[in-house]
This record gives sequence, structure tokens and C-alpha cells, in this order.
Amino acid sequence: MRRVTIFGATGSIGQNTIDLIKRDRDAYDVVGLTGAGNIAQLAADARDLNVEVAVTADESRYSELKDALAGTGIEAAAGAGALVDLAARPADWTMSSIVGAAGLLPGLEALKHGNTLALANKESLVTAGPLLMATAKQHGAQVLPVDSEHSAVFQALIGEDLACVERVIITASGGAFRDRPIEDLQTVTVSEAASHPNWDMGTRITIDSASMFNKALELIETKEYFGVSASQIEAVIHPESLIHALVGFCDGALMAHVGPPDMRHAIGFALHYPDRKCLPVERLDLTQIGQFTFRKACEDRYPALRLAREVMDQGGLWGAAFNAAKEQALDAFIAEDIGFLTMAAIVDETLSTLAAGQDLLADVTLENILKTDQLARTTAQEHIKSRP
Ligand code: NAD
Ligand code: MG
Repeated sequence: MRRVTIFGATGSIGQNTIDLIKRDRDAYDVVGLTGAGNIAQLAADARDLNVEVAVTADESRYSELKDALAGTGIEAAAGAGALVDLAARPADWTMSSIVGAAGLLPGLEALKHGNTLALANKESLVTAGPLLMATAKQHGAQVLPVDSEHSAVFQALIGEDLACVERVIITASGGAFRDRPIEDLQTVTVSEAASHPNWDMGTRITIDSASMFNKALELIETKEYFGVSASQIEAVIHPESLIHALVGFCDGALMAHVGPPDMRHAIGFALHYPDRKCLPVERLDLTQIGQFTFRKACEDRYPALRLAREVMDQGGLWGAAFNAAKEQALDAFIAEDIGFLTMAAIVDETLSTLAAGQDLLADVTLENILKTDQLARTTAQEHIKSRP
């Protein structure tokens, strides 16, 4: 039986992971699950899967979780330290699907113990790509991408020589506002931004899709994961969300990965890798689909993409600053403190402030990353507060 742990089990990726595991229940020994606020879901899944330990990131919910697990023999734990402790328990496969930079420390800890890390938490790679990949290498652990685009690129590269890769193209649905005039965007509501045309995902990534910050994170994720240069990576809008990525080779071939917009494909691929197993996803009927369309992802319309270019060009701690500023700007948009377009302005201003006063090109050590993350958050908050 494979020992698996799921970080962010109560979220969209976590629930899809549990769905796949439950379909082949006897193959897995689920060590632990984590959540934050959704204690009822966390406790129900912990009971169902008979885990060793359930952890909530929210310490104020500890007694609620403990009560919900009373009499089961399942341990309850809470807080950021307990997440890292869980990552240190022996496991073969760890799903990293916490949202935000909070996923970084448990992911690093799992790698230090040699676990295979199925990485949905793209913020880890954006914040600490060189450190994360070096930690995996040092401990002989594997990181498998669980973003649909990066799983697609990974699959297109199997058996290929990286030296023959000319370009990597990741696709973007365009999110909730792909057909709205830019003049209307400043006044859109949180619930409008949180409804995705093609994918069913957590609220934060759905809003990031509408602002294209999700694609910005994914451009950086591509650079950090595959080691290709920024100039080789591009994003195109593909409203159907059926082609997830394409890899262009030196002989002119483009290898495209086509599949339904269902994250259980990328999760299942990482769960069974290096094997392929049957997965419960739709089989596409190409004659029904008829056509695939593409359009340019314009950096004037989507400043997040321009900022991602700068982060990729600069490297160092720019990714940590970018992600943290983006998380703060997103919080402020969700709290209705700033308008939709102001999110990119806040990130831009935060990066400029930090670049002027800090060494963002210092070594990507954990200490520097955490310091930069914190500083970017306080700087972004100051820029948010200074808005009329
Ligand atoms: P979600 O909001 O549905 O779930 C997030 C999970 O993280 C929940 O279990 C929540 O309890 C937990 N969490 C939230 N804040 C936390 C904190 N501070 N500390 C610890 N745990 C915390 O999000 P999601 O859509 O499942 O996305 C999870 C990750 O996967 C994100 O990094 C996202 O970018 C990435 N991803 C998601 C999709 C998708 O289809 N949902 C696709 C690609 C990548
Ligand atoms: Mg994606």
C-alpha cells in the first residue's frame, strides 16, 4: 500500500485527489489530511479514509477538530508547525494543494524526507523555485507538476531532449472577463471575478484567472520547473481550455496536450507516474468540438503578464516579492478595499518599492525568502492603505 498525505485536502484539488484515492481505496494508506476553516469536511474525510492525523492550519479551530474526531483514534493537530510535522511523517506521495505561500514549508519538509511531491501549490515554485528544486535534488525526491499546463508540458517532454526544446506555450482560458472591455473591469464584483467559464476551482485561483495573475504565476512556474529561459515561454488565450500546453521543438514540431478541463487528469497522472492508469475523466469527441481557437494574451490588457516577464528576467527573490504582493492585493480585492485593476497596480508599486530599497537579487535561501515575503506583504499593505 502506498502511504499518501494530502495538504489542502478540503480544497478543490484536495477533494479531487480524495475522489481518485477513494476509487482505489485498497491501494492507499492515507497518513494525514490538512485543511484550514472547513472542519466538518476535514473530519468527515479523515474518518472516511481512517487517517493517522488530521491537521487544521487554523489554531483557533483545534478543539472543534478534536471534538469532531473524538472516539475515532485519529489524532487532531493545529497550526503551521503541525503541518510541517505531518510532512515529516513517512509517506511515499504527498499532494501539495494548500493555496498560497503557506504551502511552501510543508512542501520543503516533505522533499527533505525524500517524498514524491505532487505540486499543485504553484506559489511554492514562484516564491522559492531554486530552493525547492535544489532540495528535491539533494534528497533524491521527485517534484511532479499538478497544474494542468505543467502536467501537459511534462507529458509532452517524456522521452525528449530538453536541448531540442525551442519554446513552451501554455494556454489560458482568459477567465471570467475575457470578453469584457477593459474600461468595465475596475468596477467588477468579487462574485463576478470568482465565476470561471471552464474550470471549477478554488475562489482565489479563479479570481487570479480573471486578472491573469494565475497565468503570470504559471509563466514563472514554467521557468522554475523546466529550467527553460523566459524568452522561450509564452502564454496564449485558448477559450476552450482543451489544449493545456504545447512544446515546440527545433525541428518545427509542436507537441500539444489535449484533454478535458478536469484536474483529475493532472492529479491522476502524478499519482500513478511513471505508469498511466485509467482515469474517470471525459473522453473528448473532436468532431463535436469542431475547432480549437487561440488569441494573443496582450500585456497591455493584462499587466500581470508584463510583471511576470520582469520577475522571470530578474530572478532571485523577485518571485517571492511578486507572489506575496499578489496575495495581499487579492485579499484587498476580496475585502472590497480595492478595485479589480488596482491589484496589478499594487503589485507593480510593491515591486518598485522593494527593488529600490532591498537586494532582491540576494541568494534564494529560506531566510531571505521568508524575509522578502513578509516585507512584500507589509509594503503592499501600505500601498493599499494609501489608496483613496
Ligand atoms: P482551495 O481554495 O479550493 O483550497 C485550498 C486549500 O488550502 C484548502 O484545503 C484550505 O483549507 C487550505 N488553506 C487555505 N489557507 C491555508 C493556510 N494559510 N494554511 C494552510 N492551509 C490553507 O484552492 P484550490 O483551487 O484547491 O488550489 C490549491 C492550490 O492548487 C493552489 O496553489 C492553486 O493555485 C493550485 N491549482 C489549483 C487548480 C484547481 O483546479 N483548483 C488548478 C491548478 C493549480
Ligand atoms: Mg493552470
